[in-house]
Amino acid sequence: MKKILVANRGEIALRVMRTARKMGIATVAVYSEADRNAPHVRFADEAVLLGPAPSTESYLNVDKVLRAARDTGADAVHPGYGFLSENAEFARRVDTAGLTFIGPRPHAIEVMGNKLAAKETVGAYGIPMVPGVDEAVTDVEEAASIARRIGFPILIKAAAGGGGKGMRVVEAEDELDEQMKRAISEAASAFGDGSVFIEKYIAAPRHIEIQVLADTHGNCVHLFERDCSIQRRHQKVVEEAPSAVIGPALRRQMGEAAVRVAQSCDYVGAGTVEFLLDADQQFYFLEMNTRLQVEHPVTEMITGIDLVEQQIRVARGEALAFTQDELTIQGHAVELRVYAEDPLNNFLPSIGTLSTYVRPTEARVDDGFEEGMEVPIYYDPMIAKLITQGATREEAIARMLRAIDAYRIEGIETTLPFGRFVFSSDAFRSADFDTNFVKKHYQPEAIERGDRQIESVAALFAAYIYDRRARELTAPHPASVQWQRRR
Ligand code: ADP
Ligand code: ADP
Ligand code: MG
Repeated sequence: MKKILVANRGEIALRVMRTARKMGIATVAVYSEADRNAPHVRFADEAVLLGPAPSTESYLNVDKVLRAARDTGADAVHPGYGFLSENAEFARRVDTAGLTFIGPRPHAIEVMGNKLAAKETVGAYGIPMVPGVDEAVTDVEEAASIARRIGFPILIKAAAGGGGKGMRVVEAEDELDEQMKRAISEAASAFGDGSVFIEKYIAAPRHIEIQVLADTHGNCVHLFERDCSIQRRHQKVVEEAPSAVIGPALRRQMGEAAVRVAQSCDYVGAGTVEFLLDADQQFYFLEMNTRLQVEHPVTEMITGIDLVEQQIRVARGEALAFTQDELTIQGHAVELRVYAEDPLNNFLPSIGTLSTYVRPTEARVDDGFEEGMEVPIYYDPMIAKLITQGATREEAIARMLRAIDAYRIEGIETTLPFGRFVFSSDAFRSADFDTNFVKKHYQPEAIERGDRQIESVAALFAAYIYDRRARELTAPHPASVQWQRRR
C-alpha cells in the first residue's frame, strides 16, 4: 500500500492522513468547493476537487471519488466515518476497481448496516437483545399489539437509521398512530428506506460500546469499552474509556459478546459493537458500526494502540500483532465533541465564522479548522474533539476542565460550555448518570450563570485595567521617571 485516498473531510480526514504519513504512505485528499482551503486539503500530498458543496455532488458521489483514486494512482481508500463509510455498494466498487477498501468486507457492512438484519444475524450467536420485534412493522394495528405485548414506553426505530436519527419514543397507545407515521416518513426521507421496527424503551440505560479489531487470519480481539451515555438527541457528546461502572467480569462478558458479534458477520478491521446496559447491569445488543467511530481516540489513549494504523495493517493482510491477553487498560480518557451548536438554545446548529480559534496545548485536539474559517452548513457541525487522559478518572476530568477553559472559540456558539457543565457536575463526577443526563440534569441557565460570572469577572478586570491606564496617563510612567532621574 503506497497511496491512500481519504474519502472524507474535516477532522477525520486529517486524523487518517497523519497516521498514513507516519507509516510512510502517501495521501490523497478529496474536497468540495466549500472545502478548498480546508486543512485536510493542504495536509495531503495531493488533492482532487470533487464538485460543489452538497455531499451528493461531492463526498457522497461514488463515481467522482473512484475517478479521483484512479487519476492519482491511489491503491487504497479510507472512508473515515459518515459519508460512504457504511455504504456496502461503495466498498464493493472500490474492490471491483482493484483498490483496497480500508474497512470490512461489503457483506459485513450490508448485514450490520440494517438494524433488523443485524439482529437476525447476531441472534443466532446467543447475544442478548432489547425486547422487541425482529421484523419491519408498517401496520398500526400490528404495532399496537406488539406494543401491548412488550409494554409502553416503546421506541420506534428506523432499520436503516444512524446518527441518532429516525427514532421515536411512544409513551402510550394513543400516540402510536401519529408517531408510526412520522417515523416511517422520516426514515424514508433520511435513509431512503421507510422500514421501522419496535423495541422496548429501556428506562435509564447507559450506552456502552466495545471496540473490536479483527484481521483476515481469523483473529479477533476487543479493546475494552467506551461509555457514551452523555447524549443529546440520541447522539453522543461526551465519551470516556473505560466506563466507571464496569468491573472486570462484566468487561470480559461484554467483550466476548462483542467478539461473537464481529465473528457472526466475518468482520475484518476496526468496528464497534454498541450495547445498552440497564440499571441491573444487564446488557443488550443495539447495533454494530462497521467503521472507525468518532470517539475512537479514548480507546487509543487507554490502550496505546493507533486504531487507524491497525486498520491499515489489517487491510494490508497483516495478522494482529497482539493477543487479547496482551491488551491492558492504562489510566482513563475522556472526550468532548465540540459541535457548532448552541447549548443555550436546544443545541441548534450555530453558523458563522471562527473569528477566534485557539486550541488548548495540553490536550489532544482532533480538528479540521483554523481561525478565520467558516463552519460549512452542508456537513456535520462537529468542529473538533477534545481528548484528555490521566492516571485516574479524576485526573482526566481535571485536565479536561483546564483544556475547555484554554480552548478559545469565538464567532459561533459551541458545546464547550456544555462540556464544562458536564465535567463539573456531581452526576458525572460520581459516575451516577445514564442516557437521560441532559434531560435530568442539564439546565441551560446553569451555563448562562457561568457565562455571566465570567463576564462579570471580565468586566471587573477591564475596569481595573482602564483605571490603571487612566492613572498612568496622568502620572509619569515608572520607566520614564527612572530615565529622568538618570539624566
Ligand atoms: P458514532 O457512533 O461514531 O459516535 P455518530 O452516530 O455520531 O457516530 O455518527 C458519525 C457520523 O456519521 C456523523 O457525522 C453522523 O452524522 C454520520 N452518520 C452516522 N450514521 C449515519 C447515517 N446512517 N446516515 C448519514 N450519516 C450518518
Ligand atoms: P444510531 O444508529 O442512531 O446510533 P442506536 O440504536 O445506536 O442508533 O441508538 C442510539 C441511542 O438511542 C442509544 O445510545 C440510546 O441512547 C438510545 N436508544 C436506542 N435504543 C434504545 C432503547 N431500546 N431504549 C432506550 N434508549 C435507546
Ligand atoms: Mg448507534
